[in-house]
Amino acid sequence: MSAAEKNRQALLALFGDDALVSKLSSTRIAVVTPSDNTPASAVLLAKVLVDALARLWPNIDFSGEIACGLLVVGQDAALAGRAPVDGLNVDWAPPYDIVVSVGGPGPEGKSPCIQVGADGWHVRFGEGATCGGSLNPVGPAFSAGLAAAQVFATCFATALDGARLQPLGNWSADVRDLFHAPELELCPFELQDTHVFGVGAVTHSMAWMIENWPEPISGALHLVDGDNYGDGNGQRYAFMKQENVGTSKVDAVAARLNAAHPALATQPHNLGMNVYCAERGYDRPFFRIVAGLDSEESRRQAGLKDAVRTLNMWTSEHYIGAGQYVPGDGRGCLVCAYPEPVEAPLDEVTLFHKQTGLLPDIVRELLDSARGLTSAEAEKVAQAKGVPAERIIGEPLRSVLPVLCATGKVPLTEAKKAVDVPFAFSSLLSGVAGFVMLLRDVQVGRQTSECWNQHVFKKASPAMMKVEGRHSRCVRCVAAEIVAHTG
Ligand SMILES: [Zn+2]
Repeated sequence: MSAAEKNRQALLALFGDDALVSKLSSTRIAVVTPSDNTPASAVLLAKVLVDALARLWPNIDFSGEIACGLLVVGQDAALAGRAPVDGLNVDWAPPYDIVVSVGGPGPEGKSPCIQVGADGWHVRFGEGATCGGSLNPVGPAFSAGLAAAQVFATCFATALDGARLQPLGNWSADVRDLFHAPELELCPFELQDTHVFGVGAVTHSMAWMIENWPEPISGALHLVDGDNYGDGNGQRYAFMKQENVGTSKVDAVAARLNAAHPALATQPHNLGMNVYCAERGYDRPFFRIVAGLDSEESRRQAGLKDAVRTLNMWTSEHYIGAGQYVPGDGRGCLVCAYPEPVEAPLDEVTLFHKQTGLLPDIVRELLDSARGLTSAEAEKVAQAKGVPAERIIGEPLRSVLPVLCATGKVPLTEAKKAVDVPFAFSSLLSGVAGFVMLLRDVQVGRQTSECWNQHVFKKASPAMMKVEGRHSRCVRCVAAEIVAHTG
């Protein structure tokens, strides 16, 4: 068996799907950094970028002053996910499918290029995206996550067609503005008493941010998770190493944080959240809970632990987010965000909208008028559902549904399978957003419940912050109200 075939087999074992593996193994990426005097924020950015990229892509060339260091970062990341490493090299051999140029323009103009920079709180894309000397990891990690997502969006552009993505172009932002917290400063901070429930992919990203915050952090940090690292975790967990497999997640992360911040008492608790809480007892309320959990049910349960302040981080298909909940006075809690599901029957318009991909107002009009689908509408349904458009042009909507059902399974496109791709960049960005929320909570301490929800392939915007109100069915808030009125 040739080396290339061995690698293909190894990737197939990891990612399962032949089309995806072919795409991954045929794509060549270059990460270019400055040839000398690499600024501190470029080093941070490139490290995080390479850690995220090498967990998915097997062929990456590194060039520039810090190329050798980046090769080691890439090898560590690939090995953690048991991926082959011989496609990672210090080299410059254009053309590439995509070049990511950190802190300046790329060396040649033939390969598609994403130019990315950062400094302090700033993220920068496009012409003039440079890096600076700040040691603040926020801007660099944010830029790195978005750049890794853009690499994916560029290479899987055809498969992601339905999402109507546009390149980020020339764009820059101040992360403090994105999170409505212009007061944030690069300074020492005290975490008070903070419990982190769930030490998975998003928490690993947040932990790296804490580890690399260049100012002292003090207080008490409790890490609660009963799991050991599994084989598949290395495909998504930021800065997880091969030797972590089979060992306790909380022990590994606590050791790293204690080494980085001696004044921060990080304590590992190798227990599930509910067991830990039962052992701790319910007589001491929680001050701050950070939820890095992977299911709605576990987030509901974390919300019911009723902390004074709760932070949440999540990824959901193409969306990522982080939220802060300080319940009371109409403000929502974490349970409000994940109310118990009730089976509500879908109305007709919603049903047709879901089944055809046509917008609800068009569905309403089609149903009311009983007119046939125009060719544009038929094309849209055809694209969304993988049926031949000519079979439904001119048909009234009610006759289209049986056609869709008869066609059965939607042909498996790349987009369909891309959903199963481990998005290391999504959990990375979600954890970075969670860290910014943590800074906001610690440094600014507003009495607000707010969430940031972002499409991972689109420009970040301050408009993605939303106030979270109380949910009428929230059991925690109803109970809190009764206590307030009777107590
Ligand atoms: Zn609530």
